Amino acid sequence: MADTIFTKIINGDIPCHRVYEDDKVLAFLDIGPLSPGHTLVIPKEPAETIDQLSDDAAAAVGRVLPRIARAVMSVTGAAGCNVLQNNGSIAHQEVQHVHFHVIPKSSPSDGLGIGWKSMELSGDVGAKLAEQIRAAL
Ligand code: AMP
Repeated sequence: MADTIFTKIINGDIPCHRVYEDDKVLAFLDIGPLSPGHTLVIPKEPAETIDQLSDDAAAAVGRVLPRIARAVMSVTGAAGCNVLQNNGSIAHQEVQHVHFHVIPKSSPSDGLGIGWKSMELSGDVGAKLAEQIRAAL
């Protein structure tokens, strides 16, 4: 994987507002927050997208995500938060290093806005898709 701006942050070559760090994970404030306290949680392992991340690195991120979300919500007083994880430019990923956004939501107008155009899942389509995904795991 090519180095990204997050590689430079992990290596300490450029600064960040660090909120958490251990040997496998770094969390810091997003430089372009959607709401105050918007935090990025990243594995130190170099992986562009979630499907390329090792189980070990994913587990390390998952272990601290709830704690970081609690701290962010507690400090900002937000009633809720969104955890967002974009993969691929088609899915709005701009930095090609896996990262989880923790975005506090204090009101309907702040934080993450979501366009949620749901479809219907029919029984036979669902059964076939679930079978295919189970087989691919
Ligand atoms: P995404 O669209 O999911 O790839 O989001 C990338 C995020 O990284 C954006 O929210 C940016 O504001 C954030 N970002 C980019 N450069 C930096 C930086 N140097 N420090 C903190 N956040 C950054």
